[in-house]
Amino acid sequence: MPDLTRLQAMTARFAPVDVGADISRLPAAEQKALAKMVEAGRMMDTLFLRQVWSGNEQLKARMEQDTSPLGRARLHYFLINKGPWSRLDGNSPFIPGVPKKPEGANFYPAGATKAEVEAWFKTLPEGERARATGFFTTVRRAPAGKAGFAIVPYSAEYQLELTRVSKLLRDAAALSTQPTLKAYLISRADALLTNDYYASDVAWMELDATIEPTIGPYEVYEDEWFNAKAAFEAFMTLRDDAESAKLEKLGAHLQDIEDHLPIEPGYRNPQLGGMAPIKVVNEILAAGDGNRGVQTAAFNLPNDERVVKEKGSKRVMLKNVQEAKFRIVLLPISKIVLSAADQRNVSFDAFFTHIVMHELMHGLGPHQIRAGQRASTVRQELKETYSTIEEAKADVSGLFALQYLIDKGVLDQALVRTIYDTFLASSFRSIRFGLNEAHGKGVAIQLNYLLDYGAFKTAADGTFVVDPGKIKQGVTALTREIMTLEAEGNYAKATDLLKRLGIVRPEVQRLLNKLQGIPVDIEPRFTTARQLIGGTARN
Ligand code: ZN
Repeated sequence: MPDLTRLQAMTARFAPVDVGADISRLPAAEQKALAKMVEAGRMMDTLFLRQVWSGNEQLKARMEQDTSPLGRARLHYFLINKGPWSRLDGNSPFIPGVPKKPEGANFYPAGATKAEVEAWFKTLPEGERARATGFFTTVRRAPAGKAGFAIVPYSAEYQLELTRVSKLLRDAAALSTQPTLKAYLISRADALLTNDYYASDVAWMELDATIEPTIGPYEVYEDEWFNAKAAFEAFMTLRDDAESAKLEKLGAHLQDIEDHLPIEPGYRNPQLGGMAPIKVVNEILAAGDGNRGVQTAAFNLPNDERVVKEKGSKRVMLKNVQEAKFRIVLLPISKIVLSAADQRNVSFDAFFTHIVMHELMHGLGPHQIRAGQRASTVRQELKETYSTIEEAKADVSGLFALQYLIDKGVLDQALVRTIYDTFLASSFRSIRFGLNEAHGKGVAIQLNYLLDYGAFKTAADGTFVVDPGKIKQGVTALTREIMTLEAEGNYAKATDLLKRLGIVRPEVQRLLNKLQGIPVDIEPRFTTARQLIGGTARN
């Protein structure tokens, strides 16, 4: 078990930072509504703790009695991880006497094996099986005297807490005067009690209000057995009107960008379809599954395919969380990896505008393609290389698009000085998370390609610099290469690109080694939430 010093070092990887937003322009009634939403949101912590492990709540209560420095350090790190296992370290336990982290979390019967549960699924008739493997049920031992397992809806499993949350959401709805917000809050309050989330997912897609809440069971990653069961989380946020306006401005130029992509004209899409909506918001509170280990900076919901098919999905970008990560992690990285002159050009505006453009560019370029005589998709043809290639595409063509809009005078000329240096510094942040994941590997491909092109260079002292004379052409060339292989559905070219460039070269590794002391992520302190409901609101 880690001792106090070791535990403090593990915790220090998450730098504490204030996270909040200006609520002064919200009318008093909306502020009161938001306070109710924050209270409801915090209940997600309790529910998520229980979902992670059946022993979590008891362990937490016991730790709260231990006021020794070691006891306090353990509780602190427990709250960051939402359990006694360190998520940054392969879920290794950091509190004595706890079992291995259960892979099926607390969604399945204690003591049951994955094979047993899977075998039981297969014995069920179709409708029952859909319920048993659905998002919003747990699987428990059948009552005494009966064989096998039982399906328990979340509305029964978590009845006590959900009744309270439902009441808080109704109170919030009664206070607010914003119609789409009221509609979401009321339908979600109902859903928590009826276990039918469809209508509230639809209402969430239709939200158009100054307060943008997301609360309920959503992501399925905590269920490592089947990725079937949804974990409780909440994001209580405020819409960022200035950024939303900027986003709308970028969105108005998408067809123009598509028409000027550096690929064969026949590969361009003459008529872009409707884009998935993007919301830019500032976080007031994240809780439960939305606040464990590395912080969520953007999410895409809902996961229910029925809703996605009919209504699409929505991307929510948490601007103040991105800003905190930029300040706490990216700026210190830039001081080590960039030359002194280039460091001055790193800016949050460039960082965030590129992230937004990245999201938009996922919708541009080739998607529906022809493979020989067959109609196919890029995803199908590129198989396991798809995610990495598509992430690299969104990044590099995002730079291409920003440059295009700067040249057209749509975006400020000053961005030219900042987008490339900021991207270069942020490449190191992504690669640091590892190449076993699409984003990291996609970034390595771009970094190495642009180094080979001469658009990025190493200075004598080992730092990196951008060559302003070559970067624009380098970005255009890589955009052409990636989008063309996507249009061709060229699996051989994709695997070759990953093998040649999806690596960490020695000059990059030397700098990565120097980043050890820089925090990996942030530990948010929800200052506005605290202001709204009082108390310590640590999580
Ligand atoms: Zn992406």
